[in-house]
Amino acid sequence: MEKDCVIVGIDWGDEGKGRMVDLITSDYDVVVRYQGGGNAGHTVINAYGKFALHLLPSGIFRKGVVNVLGNGVALDPENLLAEIETVRAKGIEVTPENLKISDRASILFPWHRKQDELEEARLKDKKFGSTKQGIAPFYSDKYQKKTVMFGELFREEKAKAHIKDILEWKNLLFTGMYGAEPYPSEEIDLWLETYAKKLLPFVCDTGAFLKAAKKDGKRILFEAQLGALRDLDFGIYPYTTSSTTLAAYAPIGAGLPSLHPERVIGVVKAYSTCVGEGPFVCEWFGEDADKLREAGGEYGAKTGRPRRVGPLDLVATRYGVEEQGATEIALTKLDVLSYMDKIPVVTAYEAEGNVTKAFPFPSMLDEARPVTEYVKGWKMDISKARKWSDLPKEARDYVLYVEREIGCFIKYVSVGPERESVVIRTEKDR
Ligand code: GDP
Repeated sequence: MEKDCVIVGIDWGDEGKGRMVDLITSDYDVVVRYQGGGNAGHTVINAYGKFALHLLPSGIFRKGVVNVLGNGVALDPENLLAEIETVRAKGIEVTPENLKISDRASILFPWHRKQDELEEARLKDKKFGSTKQGIAPFYSDKYQKKTVMFGELFREEKAKAHIKDILEWKNLLFTGMYGAEPYPSEEIDLWLETYAKKLLPFVCDTGAFLKAAKKDGKRILFEAQLGALRDLDFGIYPYTTSSTTLAAYAPIGAGLPSLHPERVIGVVKAYSTCVGEGPFVCEWFGEDADKLREAGGEYGAKTGRPRRVGPLDLVATRYGVEEQGATEIALTKLDVLSYMDKIPVVTAYEAEGNVTKAFPFPSMLDEARPVTEYVKGWKMDISKARKWSDLPKEARDYVLYVEREIGCFIKYVSVGPERESVVIRTEKDR
C-alpha cells in the first residue's frame, strides 16, 4: 500500500507538480492543498483537456478522490468559484463529496488584492514582482489576526461584526498610509453573497475528516505550491512567497498536525525557470534563453509572463532537495532538452573569489556567478519513451549524473505533458 506522500517543488516553482499529482493520484484517496493561494498555477493536461489550476487540488479530475483545501491556504472565494466553473464546464463534477474546504481556512478578501496593487505602485522600480493576488497582505493579516476563518460565516451576525471591525482598521491603512479611497463597507455584504457564501456547502471540519480518513486506512497525498527557494524562511527572501512551501509544513497546513508522511516526492525540472524578480544565478539571456523558453513553453500559468530561464542549477537543487527532505525525485521536461548538442548544468557558484557548492545566504546571491559544465546531449525525440531502456544512453547518463549530484533517487522521468508521458524507474533501473 502506498504511503502518505507530499509532492513539493525543489526549486523556484513551476517544476511540473500539477502534472505529477495528476499522474499519481490514482494511488491515493485524498489530495490536500496545504499552503498558498491563487497566485501560482499548476498546468494539468489529461483526457478532459488542458487546465490551469490555482487553488483546486489536482486530484479533482479523478473519480473517487476527495480533494481538500486545508487551513494553510489563502482561500480566495472569487478565484475558487471561477475555477470550479471552469472545470465543471468541461464535464467534471465538483460537489461537497469530492471537494472539502477547511472551516479554519482564512478568507482572502477583495481588499487584499487592492492592498497588493497599492503597495506595488508605491514600490515602483523596487517592486518584488507580485502577482497582485493579495497573497502577501492576506498572510500578513492572518498572522496579525486580522482576517476571518471560513467557518465563521456559519454564524452570520457574529461574522459580519468581525468583518466590520477588520474593515475599519484596513481602511485606516488605505486612507492614512496610501492616501487611497477606503474599501466601501456597503459592498462587503454583496461580496459575501456573491462569492463566499456560495462556497459554504463545501466548508467543514476537514481536520476531523482527515483523521477519520486515516483511521479508515485511506492514503493521503499533500500537494504544495511553488518550490523550496520560494519558502518564506528558507528561500531567497524577500523574493519569496508569504507561506511555507516545504514538505514539513504539509501536516499543519493540511489540518492533520500529528501525521508524518513518509514519502516526499521532490519535483525538479531538467532546466531552471523563475518568475518575477529576485536573484537567479543560473539565468540565461539573449538567443539561448529565447530558444530554451520557446522549447519549454515557459510562460506563467497565471500571468502569461515570459519566465526567466537557465540550465539546471545543481547548487540550488541540492539545497532544495535537502530542505524538502525529498525521498525521491520526479525529473520533468527532459524532452525539452532534446534540441541541444550538449546539456548545460550549473555545478557550482563563484562568490567573493571562492567556488562553492553550498547555496549562499539570500543577500549574497546577487554577487554569485554560475560555473557551468556540459554533458553530452542525445539529439532525438524522447517523448515516446515509457521504459528506462527506451531512453537513449546519453539521456540515461544525464539522469544518473543529476541523481548522483543531488543525492536522491530519480524515480520518475517525465518526457511530455500528457499523463502517460513518463518513465517510472524501478530498482533494476538504478
Ligand atoms: P507546476 O506549477 O509545478 O505544476 O508547473 P506548471 O504547470 O507551471 O508548469 C509545468 C508545465 O510543463 C505545464 O505546462 C505542463 O503541462 C508542462 N509539463 C510538465 N511535465 C512536462 C514534460 O515532461 N514535458 C513537457 N514538454 N512539458 C511538461
